[in-house]
Amino acid sequence: MMSVEEMISRLRGMYPGGYFHVNRDPYYMLISTVLSQRTRDEVTIPATRRLFEVFDGPLKMASADIDEIQALIMDVGFYRVKAQRIIDISRILLKNYGGIVPDSMDELLKLPGVGRKTANCVLGYAFEKDVIAVDTHVHRISNRFGLVKTSSAAETEKELEKVVSRQDWKDINGLMVLFGQNVCRPISPRCGECGLNDICTRIL
Ligand code: SF4
Repeated sequence: MMSVEEMISRLRGMYPGGYFHVNRDPYYMLISTVLSQRTRDEVTIPATRRLFEVFDGPLKMASADIDEIQALIMDVGFYRVKAQRIIDISRILLKNYGGIVPDSMDELLKLPGVGRKTANCVLGYAFEKDVIAVDTHVHRISNRFGLVKTSSAAETEKELEKVVSRQDWKDINGLMVLFGQNVCRPISPRCGECGLNDICTRIL
């Protein structure tokens, strides 16, 4: 019998260090999550580091030359659009929020390029709020495993909130991202060597 608690407990066992590379500064988290949209971690993480080595906060980013930002992040998907968004976000933060990233969903959603997933990553990782950030890994794995039956990330977020204990909400994203990159991959999941294959509905 599949149990959510059992699944999460096993994932914690597989990835005891969690999502270790995450920098939890809210501004860093916000910009890195914008960069990560439709881009793999292996590309996003070094690009964010390069960017912050030159422009390490909203003040510098807001007045940066867009060509310089583009050059630093050019291996990231949609880098031209994202470079402009990063500048716009930084300007709005300075103008409306005193340069501080807001810690509410409603305010975060007002920023350009920020949807629920990005906002929830900031709220969960940087502000340690009880939220479930549903990205492509969380959506896919939750459905494959049988936790939910949904067709959109927004639906998955709502349904997961019903079946996962609140204390586990903010850890779901990191655990499933690591699991999705290494085992329950989008194409050719490694079911034979998966530590959950005795309780996964895809296999049962
Ligand atoms: S058994 Fe396969 S589909 Fe199920 S969680 Fe493991 S890798 Fe994913």
